[in-house]
Amino acid sequence: MMPCPSRNSGKSGEMRNTQSNDELVLKGLPICPGVGIGHVHIADPDLAVQPIDLTLRQMRAEKARYTAAVGTTRHRLLEHVATVHGQASSEIKAILEIHEALLNDDSFHDQVRKRIIIERKDAAWCLWQEATSLISRFDAMRDPYFAARSEDVRDMSLNLLGVLSGGKGNADRKAEKDHILVSRYLHSSDAIFAQRNDSRGFASESRALVSHAAILLKGFAMPSVGGIDGLLDQAREGDPVVVDGTNGAVILRPAAATIEALRLQKETAAYPDKTGSVGCVSADGTRIVLKANIENPDQVKLMLQYGLDGIGLFRTEFLVSAEGQMPTEQAQYAAYRAVIENAHGRVVTIRTFDIGGDKTMGLAVRCTGRNPVLGLRGIRRHLAKNPDELRTQFRAIFRAAADAPVGILIPMVTTVEDIVETKRHWVSVGEELERAGIAHSRNVVLGAMIETPAAAAAVADIISEVSFISLGTNDLLQFFMAADRDNESVLNYQDATHPAFLWLLRHVIEQVRSVGREADVTVCGEVASDMRVFPHLVRMGYRSFSVSPVSSAAFRSVCADVDLNETDKGESHANCLHP
Ligand code: PEP
Ligand code: MG
Repeated sequence: MMPCPSRNSGKSGEMRNTQSNDELVLKGLPICPGVGIGHVHIADPDLAVQPIDLTLRQMRAEKARYTAAVGTTRHRLLEHVATVHGQASSEIKAILEIHEALLNDDSFHDQVRKRIIIERKDAAWCLWQEATSLISRFDAMRDPYFAARSEDVRDMSLNLLGVLSGGKGNADRKAEKDHILVSRYLHSSDAIFAQRNDSRGFASESRALVSHAAILLKGFAMPSVGGIDGLLDQAREGDPVVVDGTNGAVILRPAAATIEALRLQKETAAYPDKTGSVGCVSADGTRIVLKANIENPDQVKLMLQYGLDGIGLFRTEFLVSAEGQMPTEQAQYAAYRAVIENAHGRVVTIRTFDIGGDKTMGLAVRCTGRNPVLGLRGIRRHLAKNPDELRTQFRAIFRAAADAPVGILIPMVTTVEDIVETKRHWVSVGEELERAGIAHSRNVVLGAMIETPAAAAAVADIISEVSFISLGTNDLLQFFMAADRDNESVLNYQDATHPAFLWLLRHVIEQVRSVGREADVTVCGEVASDMRVFPHLVRMGYRSFSVSPVSSAAFRSVCADVDLNETDKGESHANCLHP
């Protein structure tokens, strides 16, 4: 039995009984694929902060108590950073740094102390009022990056509340063996807790799919589902539960037969550690290249573990600090060198900072304008305002590449002129390094992301200027369908199976084929991982995909069923706008 409905088959949180009386299937949104079987452990029991009235004399002591609690929480966080130092990924460290920055935000603490005096209430109550107001301001922001920051504020405030109430705080919680963490919110401390306590999976009501917690869960390869309405009303501590991160569902109190079927699915999907490329082959023997999308240098190990052919997309903007601090050339060199060395000779594709739009990376580099997504983002931002940032990144990559197969991918290319101008910097940075006698590679190749409809239409011209292209299907779909990729109310237009979009994808590969360059095309972005679209792409002639490593098992199994000698039953659908 495979009871988990697909993401598009109904509303999130919809419930239905299956064969056991008590079994409940709750639908949500996949965060990280895989199956986790265990018992419910509730991460965040409901909080009831009640106000306590203070006398004039108590107020001063309460302010001091709050200041001391901030100090203790900061101290604990630093201790926590120290314990994880050396064993934590750079992503965990970066997230802990964000929490540290929040804790160091004196304007927030001043507001809490002011409330203690004005409202004459205890510190816990005033902290919670201040935090809730900040959280609701973040929640109301259209930019999903900022909206997801509300989870960080809540997380930090809960730690502080724990200390104020004499508890030990989030970091010291413990959980039973074989548990699944069930939460209302997506807090990064919960994701870290889940990893440290060997949780079998993670299920949350929160829809903050771009939260740090969601990014961490993917990095941990932990089966996870978000956006499950009513999860905490239904789940009881200790209940048996299954998380199906592949299909975006949670099954509470599953029947024995359900557990058995999912255990089987888990076993067939499990991949042992691989040191070589595992390959992905269609039923007629066509070899498909599968590479990894990564967000931090530590994830190279997932590329190796899942037997992938290299790194197809390293999203370097995650090296930018939460405050918008750009990494120095030396810090970048170290990060790129680590990725290249650990890739053991497999191809590494490093994308230049794709900042702007949904990736604001802190206020310092925030992209402004009424429509930031259509503004100075990706390469536009570099060419118009920050050429030195681009040149530093080129220098760091050229130096780090040694003789490894390295490609640099340029995001948000719209016209051939974007590439021509980028190449001017590329050439002059190479000459600069040469003149200074600094060791660097001359074999790094340049690639363009095809993620604007204009670039897709003129793809034959663009590819003739570069060594390779990669289709950024997330942005290409949003721009082509004129539907914001982060706006849930237009999700129905975000349909990669729409004939118009399939027509565009076919147009791209045909144009590229007409200039004999189909071997230089990769598809990245989530459309590549959409198993309804992937077989069409293979049939159209795409042979290289870059995907989240944890999704690779699904690719291999779907690909094994595609026989290129047979006509596609759904081909008329893919063809219907095609002359
Ligand atoms: C894309 O747009 O498809 C892509 C891979 O890049 P990102 O999701 O980082 O914008
Ligand atoms: Mg993109």
